Amino acid sequence: MKKATKKDKILITIAVIGIMVTMTLCLFHIKPDWKYMLSSIVTASFHSSDVSLSDTDELQTMSYKILAEKDIENISEDQSLMLVNKNNTIPANFTADLTDYNEDGLKMNSCMTKAFKSLSDDVFNKFGENLYIMSGYRTAEEQLELYNNQGGSTAEIPGASEHQTGLALDVYVNNYAGYGFLKSETGQYVNSECWKYGFIIRYPMLKSDITGIDFEPWHIRYVGIPHAEIIYKKGITLEEYAVYA
Ligand SMILES: [Zn+2]
Repeated sequence: MKKATKKDKILITIAVIGIMVTMTLCLFHIKPDWKYMLSSIVTASFHSSDVSLSDTDELQTMSYKILAEKDIENISEDQSLMLVNKNNTIPANFTADLTDYNEDGLKMNSCMTKAFKSLSDDVFNKFGENLYIMSGYRTAEEQLELYNNQGGSTAEIPGASEHQTGLALDVYVNNYAGYGFLKSETGQYVNSECWKYGFIIRYPMLKSDITGIDFEPWHIRYVGIPHAEIIYKKGITLEEYAVYA
């Protein structure tokens, strides 16, 4: 092999510095809460990232065990477990089961109104903050408009967005939205405790190879109990869980 020349070494050094600067800029752009991010990464690395077929029994046993403990009724009679992504688009004959959430015209899926109220009440009691909704239910027309305005990198094509089912909400608190949401106590609480209310962080950190979407700490998705608990504790995504549910 040819020995690295001085010029090669300089080029390599420049490349390494370039990569480090880019990574630092990316992190500053995301503006994470360092302690929270670190603990999430450690937790995620202890969870299994790949669920193999041999896990089916374990998942089912866990699901039944939690079901038995919590005595949940009518678990699959609503739309809560619907998988929506680029490969599983919303059927043309689908109608979202909607409830008006507030006077501003915000709608969400009827199966989750109680759960969201409970989450936002707890947030208010614990932190004195209102948990606001940036985006709830969207019609196909609204999704198309968003897609046309923002493009495919930040908005899904109509039919591939969970917002059209009314099961997803983009949430924030005063002064803390987007990635900054994680800098607030509320954002950290929502990210680590929302499973107790039946919600999951639908696009978790380090899972974009499975979900196709980068980490979105503000996008919560209702799947119901015990599913949210299993998904959270197994450290898996809805894509992986839906195969067994
Ligand atoms: Zn969203």
